[in-house]
Amino acid sequence: MRPEPFFSALGIDRADQVRVDPQRLAEITAAEGGRQLLWRDGLPAVGNDGRLEWQPVSAADLFLGVQDGQPRFSAAEQPHANARAAFDTLGTLARDEAPLFAAALSLAWWHSRHLFCANCGASTEIERGGWSRRCAECSAQHFPRVDPVVIMLAEHEGRLLLGRQPQYPPGRYSALAGFLEPGESIEAAVARELQEEAGIEVADVTYIASQPWPFPSSLMIGCRAVAKDPALTLDTTEIEAAMWVDRAEVRAALGGDMGAPFMAPPSLAIARYLLEDWAG
Ligand SMILES: [Zn+2]
Repeated sequence: MRPEPFFSALGIDRADQVRVDPQRLAEITAAEGGRQLLWRDGLPAVGNDGRLEWQPVSAADLFLGVQDGQPRFSAAEQPHANARAAFDTLGTLARDEAPLFAAALSLAWWHSRHLFCANCGASTEIERGGWSRRCAECSAQHFPRVDPVVIMLAEHEGRLLLGRQPQYPPGRYSALAGFLEPGESIEAAVARELQEEAGIEVADVTYIASQPWPFPSSLMIGCRAVAKDPALTLDTTEIEAAMWVDRAEVRAALGGDMGAPFMAPPSLAIARYLLEDWAG
């Protein structure tokens, strides 16, 4: 079986029953054998072997869960302001460590940006082992956010629509994507984004796979849809170019063929996973 998208595998036992029990949480924090995630340059530290690095517990603000029978914690670190800095680290990160890396990074991002209550403006305090914050003034409870993004391949008679954003490296084309909006289903968001960015109408939206993307807190929802007509009207503020490509062209790009009509997205991206899934 093909591996899941990077970041998507099961992480550790998140042990929610411990989070909600302050006494058990205090016991597990004080117990011997716990480990605290090491951070380096504003990111969870990754050793030369691709594994996350750990140290004895000193600041157990965030309870990440239980791994290999050991409780795992992280301090509420301030993540690196430039997410791009993470990508060198990700190149060496082991696939099975990626979900925990994503959870720790997204959670730390959220804490660093939610020190004050969105309801009344007073200070908030960490509770539930870092999986919520509560306002000291009005008692409002705030939960870590996840921002859903749809990312999709539109298909028309054996060809796929790919687009290029201005900031991509030369030659790169990828799946179109956009944030879900309140009151919208995944299917409606896919149809709206393809209409807005490429001017095409689609039907038969199907879900393929999803991927947490911790920069800072996206959930990429990978889909496929069927275009009714291939004529394009591009929104050039979003994508500077788009094209329809067939299976042979997609396979050539995935294989790194210099003669391919485009350069495929990088291996960590769910866009590449969607292309591989389609190309067979
Ligand atoms: Zn408040």
